Amino acid sequence: MLKINNLHASVEDKAILKGINLDVKPGEVHAIMGPNGSGKSTLASVIAGKEEYEVEEGEILLEGENIDELGPEERAHKGVFLSFQYPVEIPGVSVTNFMKTAINETRKAKGLEDMPANEMLKMIREKSEMLEIDRKFLSRSLNEGFSGGEKKRNEIFQMAMLEPRLAILDETDSGLDIDALRIVANGVNKLKSKDNAVIVITHYQRLLDYIVPDYVHVLHDGKIVKSGSAALAHELEAKGYDWIKEEVNA
Ligand code: ADP
Ligand code: MG
Ligand code: MG
Repeated sequence: MLKINNLHASVEDKAILKGINLDVKPGEVHAIMGPNGSGKSTLASVIAGKEEYEVEEGEILLEGENIDELGPEERAHKGVFLSFQYPVEIPGVSVTNFMKTAINETRKAKGLEDMPANEMLKMIREKSEMLEIDRKFLSRSLNEGFSGGEKKRNEIFQMAMLEPRLAILDETDSGLDIDALRIVANGVNKLKSKDNAVIVITHYQRLLDYIVPDYVHVLHDGKIVKSGSAALAHELEAKGYDWIKEEVNA
C-alpha cells in the first residue's frame, strides 16, 4: 500500500530525513517511535504532502503510484489521512456539517455525486455510535473551545468517517492523558481492517499498550535504525533510547 524508498527530505534547506525505507501492507499497523527531533512528524508531513517539506531523493509510492507530484488534498482524496490535518476552528460550522462537506469534496474529486442525505445520516449515526460520540458533540462548532480529549474525539471521528486507506496518527505532542489514549486506541482498533493500514507515531510506549502494532520502527536522526515487533516498544520503555544511539554509533 505504502512503499517508501530511500527517502531524503529537507525543510528550509536543512536535511531532516536521511534515507527512509518503509513498506506498509494492507491490514498492518506500524508504530514509529524515536527521540524528540528525530524526524517523526516530518515523515508524517512528507507522506501527507505538506508543501514546506522538500523531497530531495527517493520516492513515496501509494499503491504503486509515485505521489511526489500530488498536493496534500489530492493525497487525501487518494485515501491518505493525517491527524490534525484540519485543526482550524470554524465558528458556526458544526462537526457534522464539516464532515459532510469533507466527504462530498472527496466524492467530487472521484467524479461521484454528493452522498444522499439519508445515507450520510446513517453513516454519521453508525460511526458516532461506534465511537461513543454523543449527538450534542456533533452539533458543536468545529474545534471551538474543544478540550484536548474532544479534539482527539473529533479527529478520530473524521478518520472513521473518511475511511482512509492509510491513516497516519502523530501523537507525539498531544496531551496524552488516559482519556485521549483510550479514544485514539479505540478508534484505531475499530477502524482496522484487512484493507487499510495505520501508522501510529508516538514518543511513548503507553499508547502501544492499547494499540498493538505489527511492526515498530525506531527513527533516529532521520533514519530508521531499528525495526521489530511490538516487543521492541516494551524494550524501549524499559531501556530508553540511549542504547539505540550507542548501537548506531558503535
Ligand atoms: P519529531 O517529530 O521526531 O520530534 P520533527 O520531525 O518534528 O521531529 O523535527 C525534526 C527536525 O526537523 C527538528 O530539528 C526540527 O526542528 C526540524 N523541523 C521540523 N519541521 C520544521 C519546520 N517546519 N521548519 C524548520 N525546522 C523544522
Ligand atoms: Mg517534535
Ligand atoms: Mg513530532
